[in-house]
Amino acid sequence: MQLAFDSDVEEFRAEFSAFLDEHTPSAAETLERPRSTAHMPQWARDWQRKLFDNGWLLPAQPPEFGGRNATVLQTFVHAEELCRRRIYHSFNPQGVNIIAASLLTFGSDEQKHRWAVPVLKGERTAALGMSEPSAGSDLASLRTKAVREDDHFVVNGQKVWTSGAHDADFLLTFVRTDPDAPKHKGISVLLIPTELEGVVCRPFADLCGMENLDFNEVFFTDVRVPAENLVGPVNGGWGVANGSLGHERTMMWLGFADRIANCLADFRPKSPLERDALATSIMDYEALRLLGSVGIAKAARGEVDVASVSIPKLLGGEAEQRVLGLALEAAGPDGLVHPSTSGPYEHMNLDDYFASWFERYARSFGGTIAGGTSEIQRNIIAQQVLGLPRR
Ligand SMILES: Cc1cc2nc3c(=O)[nH]c(=O)nc-3n(C[C@H](O)[C@H](O)[C@H](O)COP(=O)(O)OP(=O)(O)OC[C@H]3O[C@@H](n4cnc5c(N)ncnc54)[C@H](O)[C@@H]3O)c2cc1C
Repeated sequence: MQLAFDSDVEEFRAEFSAFLDEHTPSAAETLERPRSTAHMPQWARDWQRKLFDNGWLLPAQPPEFGGRNATVLQTFVHAEELCRRRIYHSFNPQGVNIIAASLLTFGSDEQKHRWAVPVLKGERTAALGMSEPSAGSDLASLRTKAVREDDHFVVNGQKVWTSGAHDADFLLTFVRTDPDAPKHKGISVLLIPTELEGVVCRPFADLCGMENLDFNEVFFTDVRVPAENLVGPVNGGWGVANGSLGHERTMMWLGFADRIANCLADFRPKSPLERDALATSIMDYEALRLLGSVGIAKAARGEVDVASVSIPKLLGGEAEQRVLGLALEAAGPDGLVHPSTSGPYEHMNLDDYFASWFERYARSFGGTIAGGTSEIQRNIIAQQVLGLPRR
């Protein structure tokens, strides 16, 4: 059995490592901190541009989209190297990993270059407009309406939980274009610039503090969106939604793996019981990396299997919550002191990643809800991966 990578993969790692040694911004350059998932300070934009230009942003992509046609294993060590150094992949994570990734799959050539490439280069930021007050788990019930009028769609309705929308330049928005069709068949996708008249983003706080403004309600009132902003076919949005959710769940399990690895490094067990629980989390982490890699390998072979990405999404979200719950409990009352730090300051990562144990634990709940709740992942795995009967 060979437990090491082949030399070409290690050479790839060494090249990336040398790039990071030479180009990673210093702590002094990163003093302005990102305030939402679509707010990128200039240093974060410049850094992302450098990754793009050197083929290190999305290594599996061709150079025109910030990559170098890397293999699956090379992509894996790229993620491993960023995690080891605690470097956050992009400070507009949904823009790069969901919206640009979806446009590269479903967009026209013109849309790839006009909308995806500026996001990948860090010139523009994007947010994901899927969920609505009555359409979260049951996304196909969404009601935001788009009516075609000549060369425009006129959009009316509301989204919610739209991370970073108030700082984003545009939204990948799921809208109903045929109210009479079965609900999965009447959905389309529009690129909606937030500067258009009639778009109002209202950020609201989360449980970690009133200053944490990432979630938004987004209201659309008679917003006129050029018809050329339609992504994929009219009423073909459900296919795009599934692809976008596959990208989102891949982004999420990679994030879980990073945060579990960080927690395993920061948490020092004192009792045999804590050590025993930690051992379980180490096994969770290894299982997550291996199961997740299966999905990456399938995608690299061109196999479309969105359903099975639910496995690492479910495992990782719950494993992260378990290990952070363990660390919080072990810290006792000290873990509740907020704000405080529970790990070394890492200027290239989000401040949340080394916040108080309370904050790290509280934030882990989002991972079992966003991108589809754990219950929904269980339903998908039961029905679409295991083929169990629907009751
Ligand atoms: C941190 C975070 C970031 C997010 N960012 C975005 C974003 O950028 N853009 C966006 O569009 N959305 C975003 N969301 C929203 C997210 O996609 C929804 O919260 C999620 O899909 C669940 O929908 P809901 O909140 O309406 O809950 P509901 O669908 O109302 O579910 C409530 C409860 O019922 C359970 N339930 C529902 N249906 C079933 C079923 N069929 N079987 C079993 N149990 C069921 C759920 O598991 C849950 O426990 C984000 C959410 C979080 C937490």
